[in-house]
Amino acid sequence: MNRIRTRYAPSPTGRMHVGNLRTAMYAYLIAKHEGGDFLLRIEDTDQERFVEGAVEIIYRTLEETGLVHDEGPDKDGGVGPYVQSERHALGMYLDYARMLVEKGEAYYCFCTQERLDTLKKTVDGQEIMIYDKHCLHLSKEEVQANLAAGMPYVIRQNNPVDGTTTFHDEIYGDITVDNSELDDMVLIKSDGYPTYNFANVVDDHLMGITHVVRGNEYLSSSPKYNRLYDAFGWEVPVYVHCPLITNEEHKKLSKRSGHASYEDLIEQGFISEAVVNYVALLGWSPVGNQEIFSLEELIKEFDFRNISKSPAVFDMTKLKWMNSEY
Ligand code: GLU
Ligand code: ZN
Repeated sequence: MNRIRTRYAPSPTGRMHVGNLRTAMYAYLIAKHEGGDFLLRIEDTDQERFVEGAVEIIYRTLEETGLVHDEGPDKDGGVGPYVQSERHALGMYLDYARMLVEKGEAYYCFCTQERLDTLKKTVDGQEIMIYDKHCLHLSKEEVQANLAAGMPYVIRQNNPVDGTTTFHDEIYGDITVDNSELDDMVLIKSDGYPTYNFANVVDDHLMGITHVVRGNEYLSSSPKYNRLYDAFGWEVPVYVHCPLITNEEHKKLSKRSGHASYEDLIEQGFISEAVVNYVALLGWSPVGNQEIFSLEELIKEFDFRNISKSPAVFDMTKLKWMNSEY
């Protein structure tokens, strides 16, 4: 089998949420359990979501918790994380998108915002837009003329409308979606930057990532990612989507609940080792009865097949007990 390579691929959008920390930890443990590599990749191509200082928080949190990454470019005398916006300078993502255009798996779209606005629909109280493939039907000459005229464009994935797509997740099993739900998502934005979705797939491939570990909010996008791997003829990674973490009222952990981020917990006086220990057990059950684990012991015991798909409940009382054991 190939050497296991995982990554933690955060977007720098704020403090490190407990769920983010757990994702990083599971990615780290999966790699280390098999003597593999754990990489850190900052996904910052979506400038609108960028929060000042967030990269430093991610870096510091991973260092304090011992989730040290294995490789990356030389930076400040050490091994820096991979930073997507710096890779972009190579124009690399655009070249990959053009490759898909050549294969008929993607196409240029010149639609104006006004036109896209007319495609918006409200479903279950949420505004959605499924692109109608209008620009897929432009002739090669029309596309060339538009490009030559300097018309702004995006590049979209060309997904089928009929049939279904199935992909496998190690925690959730086989998941099948109707292709009619697969929007022709944007791969390259009008500013020339790749979307998070596209850069994510290209980089996972280029970095030889064997196991993609992330939060289950990405489960619904995974069929589109899968189609991208297929379109390129690349091997699909093993997917490990981590279950939701809720508060004691079974609601999604929110910033307001006061224990949503690693830093909140440290500020409240919890010690890092106890938080690491506690977070590792949010959704993963070891085989025996042991509850107190060092990071080394976690590496030894961790088996991602024992991650549960039911939501994990963040229980402050339990964390306090664990903290008192340290
Ligand atoms: N950049 C994504 C985020 O921060 C991560 C998605 C992934 O790990 O594939 O939510
Ligand atoms: Zn269009």
